[in-house]
Amino acid sequence: LKSLLDDPTLLETRAYVGGTWVEGEGGTFDVTNPARGDVIAQVADLSRAQVAEAIAAAEAAQKDWAARTGKERAAVMRKWFDLMMQNAQDLGRILTAEQGKPLAEAVGEIAYGASFVEFFGEEAKRVYGEMIPGHQRDKRIMVLKQPIGVAASITPWNFPNAMITRKAAPALAAGCTFVARPAAETPLSAIALAVLAERAGIPAGVFNVVPSSRASEIGKEFCENPAVRKLSFTGSTEVGRILLRQAADQIKKCSMELGGNAPFIVFDDADLDAAVEGAMMCKFRNAGQTCVCANRIYVQAGVYDAFAEKLAAAVNKLRVGDGLEEGVTTGPLINREAVEKVLEHLGDVTAKGGQVLTGGKPHALGGTFFEPTIVTGVTQDMKVAREETFGPLAPLFRFEDVDEVIEMANDTIFGLAAYFYARDLSRVYKVAEALEYGIVGVNTGIISTELGPFGGVKQSGLGREGSHYGIDEYLELKYVCLSV
Ligand code: ADP
Repeated sequence: LKSLLDDPTLLETRAYVGGTWVEGEGGTFDVTNPARGDVIAQVADLSRAQVAEAIAAAEAAQKDWAARTGKERAAVMRKWFDLMMQNAQDLGRILTAEQGKPLAEAVGEIAYGASFVEFFGEEAKRVYGEMIPGHQRDKRIMVLKQPIGVAASITPWNFPNAMITRKAAPALAAGCTFVARPAAETPLSAIALAVLAERAGIPAGVFNVVPSSRASEIGKEFCENPAVRKLSFTGSTEVGRILLRQAADQIKKCSMELGGNAPFIVFDDADLDAAVEGAMMCKFRNAGQTCVCANRIYVQAGVYDAFAEKLAAAVNKLRVGDGLEEGVTTGPLINREAVEKVLEHLGDVTAKGGQVLTGGKPHALGGTFFEPTIVTGVTQDMKVAREETFGPLAPLFRFEDVDEVIEMANDTIFGLAAYFYARDLSRVYKVAEALEYGIVGVNTGIISTELGPFGGVKQSGLGREGSHYGIDEYLELKYVCLSV
């Protein structure tokens, strides 16, 4: 992997704690390339005590970082952003090697991840308080916004760069300091971010990266260490519940970006070609491994067959392979369990009467490659209706009318993203308002941008990331009552 990089020093395997590079007390853990199955790096495996040290370093750095003006913090963050963009190709190569997504997608993620650093750096200057007219003649009500303190994150492997910057950027902009524990599958992208943070002049202790194979111990340290005032998690609803329970003892502020079960609805007045294009991006990006990927595709009866045919034609053009190879559109799944999950959902569909339209089995390349797959005749009693597949399986449900599909779409404990294609204006309004989701894409399959507030309702999470709302997650309000 080093030989592929223009700047091999970006491939660092140590942890970054308090501005220094440290080895792990627990030795190292292996990072594997999911496309080839070979070990590409051995990364410092930090103990719980070392993570406590990182938290202490973040605490020690916080007051001075917060005392800087927003403009000063913005200037350093801008440098960090510029370095990310200048090194986007190398960061993309590292990301593809550890995560599997095609290089073009990986470089796209770097730009997306960097955009949060750019945006929130700018927002650092706009953390406005408020003066509220008093309740008595001599009183003035002043509202200050102050950084919460030390923030910690736990993130998954599907977006090894952007899931961290989405949290770290608003935290740093607000004047918080940060400790990131990346997923053990994909720590290299996170560590590379720390290399660039150091180069950008982010002060020691402000941004720390603590790779560790001990997920649950680190989770406990984040929840039990009183210096951590904020925990931001992206991952499964199951682990989110555990962390919320643990965080309850210290009434810790939490942001949770949890699982989804996104419906993607195609109405009979939709532009079918646009709907196919949107479904392809929404379903097959990152081999179906995103929390906003379409999980259930509902197609109105009148256009069901035509949509299925067009979607199959598009799916058959995908090229599965090693993401570092030219022309590959679809990489491997992250691991064996991911393949098992797809097979389980697929088996359940066919056992209950659904049909495979295209794909339908592990790919001839072997390993964790899987054929992009479409199944038809899918119904609400099948597993895919309730659980996130997190793989390249597109299940097509048939529906007759608007009220029926809204009910089916909302019939889930999740509420992250939903999508629909329609042209009738009143239908567009009605459906957008009726879907119980934090994010609704109308006539588009891609909703992610640093400018919009990303987040879920119901059991998909708490809080929002991105947009001016995103920084509020790292700020406390203080009400000062002034007698004049
Ligand atoms: P995914 O299926 O996307 O990996 P998980 O919720 O299992 O979702 O994992 C998300 C992140 O949470 C990963 O970095 C994982 O290591 C971490 N994690 C898993 N279990 C725990 C736990 N009990 N406490 C803290 N972190 C955990």
